[in-house]
Amino acid sequence: MSGLVVDNATVSYGATKALDGFDLVVDEGEIMAVLGPSGSGKSTLLRAVAGLEPLTAGTVTLGGRDLTGVPTHRRELGMMFQDHGLFAHLNVGRNIGYGLRIGGADRNKEQAKVSELLTLVGLDGFAGRAPDQLSGGEAQRVALARALAPEPGLLMLDEPLGSLDRALRDQLTGELRRMLTEIGQTALHVTHDQAEAFAIADRVAVVSDGKPVAVGAPAELWADPGTGFVARFLGHPNIWTVQVGVEGRVSAGGTELGRVNNNHPLRQPNAAESALAFADDGEVVVPTTAVRVGADSSAATQPRDDARPMTFSATVVSSVFQRGTNEVTVTPDADQAGGRKHITFITTESMAPGSSVSLSVDCDLLRPLRSD
Ligand code: ADP
Ligand code: MG
Repeated sequence: MSGLVVDNATVSYGATKALDGFDLVVDEGEIMAVLGPSGSGKSTLLRAVAGLEPLTAGTVTLGGRDLTGVPTHRRELGMMFQDHGLFAHLNVGRNIGYGLRIGGADRNKEQAKVSELLTLVGLDGFAGRAPDQLSGGEAQRVALARALAPEPGLLMLDEPLGSLDRALRDQLTGELRRMLTEIGQTALHVTHDQAEAFAIADRVAVVSDGKPVAVGAPAELWADPGTGFVARFLGHPNIWTVQVGVEGRVSAGGTELGRVNNNHPLRQPNAAESALAFADDGEVVVPTTAVRVGADSSAATQPRDDARPMTFSATVVSSVFQRGTNEVTVTPDADQAGGRKHITFITTESMAPGSSVSLSVDCDLLRPLRSD
């Protein structure tokens, strides 16, 4: 079933194209995060979907209905912003019921919906409170309930957690996902925060200069970002320059790491042994999970004996404790000109800077990055 379809949407401000042929499909009931740097066109996308910004080209369709020419208040959208924008003179219950009253709902229907939504957002008993008696997180929950009350076909959130501190933001991100999933709400969530996008969304669209440059489920995007831009924007710690030689032998900075299997993308697009993804040097992303500590690597993904990853020694540069594990960065001892200067991986062991460690890399987990 179709939710939101944005097709070739273009919005120009003079010579600047804030949206430049933007294509995006959000399935019904799906949470899509739109992730991009400041100025990439995220808010313009939401305004265009809302009908607050005229399109110079393209269309927006919601639930199969072409929204061209439909005024904002008839588009059946819910909106939530960083500034909760609650009406100061109305209590929480009246704020939440506002859209229903405008739509002509009777008092009983309004009260039933308000109480259902207060339960959803975890604020049972708050109906009589004034907005100035709410914490920042509570006010955002009320703003969410208010946006959901008219049962919008699409909820749009523009950096809604941007003003909250990190811990509260992480907590609310998880809860927001639970709430929206519980009611099957189709949602478009805009943020510049990679962690927030990954935590809330079914799929993430990375945008740059007014259009999506990668769309995928969080784990897929992380494992295979496609381009150097996306990998860097997502904050990938390991982007290496490697060479791929005969038989799929991969080396970096003068150290041979191992071999990739026959149908690995580093040996595409042609199956011929000589036609490698990189005739010369090329960038790859190395997931932290591909780096293993110790000489003994699991044979599970590489049954061939001669394909077992090479081990090499490295020196620990730093070890940062994060949420129960350590993010360790090392420099390979044999590292030569250019190439791979640092390797970051996750381990439960804590490692002292300056200590020596033996590593291997599961080359089958490497993914090539295009340079555009
Ligand atoms: P984001 O929300 O990703 O930070 P915006 O959608 O707000 O980005 O802006 C996209 C681009 O459009 C930016 O270059 C911005 O300067 C420009 N822009 C946004 N709104 C206007 C406007 N009303 N007039 C002129 N330029 C604008
Ligand atoms: Mg914005």
